[in-house]
Amino acid sequence: MGSYKVAVIRGDGIGPEVVDATIEVLEAVQDAVKGLSLSFDFVEAGDGCLRTRGIALPQETVDAILKAHATLKGPVGESAADVIVKLRIMLDLYANIRPFKSYPGVPCLRQGVDFVIVRENTEDLYKRYEFSLDEGNTAVALRVITRKCCERIARKAFELASRRPRRLVTIVHKSNVMSLTCGLFAKVCKEVAKEYPGVSYEEMYVDACAYNLVVKPERFDVIVTTNMFGDILSDEAAAVTGSLGIAPGANIGDKYAIFEPIHGAAPDIAGKGIANPCATILSAKMMLEWLGEFGAADLLERALIKSLSDKKNLTPDLGGKATTKDFTRAVKEAVMEACQN
Ligand code: ATP
Repeated sequence: MGSYKVAVIRGDGIGPEVVDATIEVLEAVQDAVKGLSLSFDFVEAGDGCLRTRGIALPQETVDAILKAHATLKGPVGESAADVIVKLRIMLDLYANIRPFKSYPGVPCLRQGVDFVIVRENTEDLYKRYEFSLDEGNTAVALRVITRKCCERIARKAFELASRRPRRLVTIVHKSNVMSLTCGLFAKVCKEVAKEYPGVSYEEMYVDACAYNLVVKPERFDVIVTTNMFGDILSDEAAAVTGSLGIAPGANIGDKYAIFEPIHGAAPDIAGKGIANPCATILSAKMMLEWLGEFGAADLLERALIKSLSDKKNLTPDLGGKATTKDFTRAVKEAVMEACQN
């Protein structure tokens, strides 16, 4: 058990609602787990920060992240590219880990789903090398794929798969069309696969993967893919398992890590008190694991599963009528109950 400083960015739209709910739950976990001490350093980034301070990602926010043991971040709105895309590159957070599970009691397309998307987080079209030609009548974007980045993301995926019961990696690309960029990605992933003889692998084109995620999502274990494919497939995967409101994520590098839900600022429901905080709470659970606090992470997940299994706690995105506060209260109570038993 240890003491940790966590930098917290509340973000825009529903961000403050889901982050505040998560902090409340983390405080309950801290009370329940002897020796665990979390201190929160609230810093700003995003559209609100751009409006009030003229900059979406102030240096003091970056400094706070560098000083913290980990960062918990809510979604930001239009300035996402200037905040999280920038941070991923600046801090070399090269692995975006996005687990998807169907939880009992949560209405979803298919039960028995449990897979992780391991998305390369620092290159591809998200390098944002874009320019105009022909007096603005032609737009060009450069897709950057390097051996170094393919190697390290493949290693993360195979490492992860080697610790999971099914030990299967699906390498997702589109090398029949993008033969050089996707070709390199596929080739390097297969080279890395040789280092993990206990893990099997398959290749799948991204369009086939999109189809199979709906038709047979339970067939997947670990999916490794490039930046933009991973971004799109993860929103689809969230819909398959119930809602964007329950899909967590982690941006992991060798030194730093930022934990955030995969959903955006959801301006359509911001301020209504009905946002599902589950994705951010599960991101905090991933943060506890990354900090090595596996007992606390397990306690948090069990409390969350218990809360989700009772229909009266479900928020509207999951077909229920509960508010963000109702769900948060249920998780806190479940944390307290679990540690009394
Ligand atoms: P981005 O491009 O920034 O990822 P987006 O345009 O994909 O954002 P989101 O903000 O993620 O959109 O929202 C997509 C839909 O999902 C919206 O209708 C929103 O209300 C819903 N949604 C997203 N997150 C949640 C949540 N935590 N709880 C309930 N509904 C949510």
